Amino acid sequence: MDKCSFCGRDRKDTNLLIAGVSGHICDSCIEQANSILEEEFKKKSSFDMGQITLLKPAEIKSFLDQYVIGQDEAKKYLSVAVYNHYKRLMQTSTGDDVEIEKSNIILVGETGTGKTLLARTIARMLHVPFTIVDATVLTEAGYVGEDIESILTRLLQSADYNVEAAEKGIVFIDEIDKIARKSDNPSITRDVSGEGVQQGLLKLLEGSIVNVPPQGGRKHPDQKMIPVNTKNILFICGGAFDGIQRRIGQRLNTKVVGYMASKAKDQVDAENLLQYIAPQDLKTFGLIPEIIGRLPVLTYLQPLDRDILRKILTEPKNSIIKQYEKLFSIDGIKLVFEPEVLDYIVDKAVEFKLGARGLRSICETIMIDPMFETPTSEEKELTIKLDYAIEKIEKANVAKLKAS
Ligand code: ADP
Repeated sequence: MDKCSFCGRDRKDTNLLIAGVSGHICDSCIEQANSILEEEFKKKSSFDMGQITLLKPAEIKSFLDQYVIGQDEAKKYLSVAVYNHYKRLMQTSTGDDVEIEKSNIILVGETGTGKTLLARTIARMLHVPFTIVDATVLTEAGYVGEDIESILTRLLQSADYNVEAAEKGIVFIDEIDKIARKSDNPSITRDVSGEGVQQGLLKLLEGSIVNVPPQGGRKHPDQKMIPVNTKNILFICGGAFDGIQRRIGQRLNTKVVGYMASKAKDQVDAENLLQYIAPQDLKTFGLIPEIIGRLPVLTYLQPLDRDILRKILTEPKNSIIKQYEKLFSIDGIKLVFEPEVLDYIVDKAVEFKLGARGLRSICETIMIDPMFETPTSEEKELTIKLDYAIEKIEKANVAKLKAS
């Protein structure tokens, strides 16, 4: 007579007995095993703060240094804010009434200066769920576009729906300047993508329990919502805030172009007014004061000059050039760039006003043929020379370079 190898029940005492290679299992043992499995998975998925490697601010900065060139000021602010944020999460109640407040961050700097890269690198260091959202697609509920809650849907997805992990994650909201009110004065006309969105965003920044549609999209009545508490989610906002220099200039009462005037005010460096950015400049730009209040850490990124662009090509741990070298070395080929080629790439990025993003598209244009040909050739070493690079770029369609 067949028996369950786990509980010893006879076949007649079970609803189902499944035969294996050298034994049997009954339906009730399967059920029991299944609940043990579920229990174990639950244990694993509950988020353990111990998984977060928390470094000291100086250590966080040197980690960032490996991937992001320059931007020391932003790195310093970010390091301290992240350190404090996670210290706050780890603290157990000490009995006193001192509650460390959340320190969401706002980074102001031209596009392509490394705002996203900074946020991404921080998340990589902390091993927490991370998502990037673009504020331009957000609209008030009921309008065409994405609801504010979609931000949290993305975070949940990146946390594999582990709510506890998502609640300690980082959200990077890009282009926050695009939801600024069109003017400093609250207007009576509807401002679909402006103030309403800011009000919605405020709820997330402040920390509240938000019902999130797990699959995103529009809410509909029968969709099961997941409540997510945003109290401990770190929000990093980024924006170019085009023209804000002029507003800073006005505030400092110095003319951006009238260098004589600014010289008279000596200390003010009119070339780079962004370094004087203050919360009231964001207000004149059209962010509502409540939002500004919830983004207490305000810092800026410098525009990238030729020097920094040159370093970005080669110095970061996963710099573009290192990536090409690796691609070729996998085929057993040693790839060398003449230093003049690197200077030329930087020159072109500056000339086409492509910034750091352009470095890659320029490199791709130069490298496409070698990448196509060398894997099937006998060569074991390849040097990219200046005249070759010039030829490739001159033949290329500049519009295409700019588009990528
Ligand atoms: P932003 O978010 O400010 O628009 P990104 O962070 O997306 O800019 O930067 C675009 C790309 O340019 C990045 O993927 C990175 O390769 C490069 N980059 C920009 N700034 C830096 C920097 N300071 N150090 C290293 N790479 C940079």
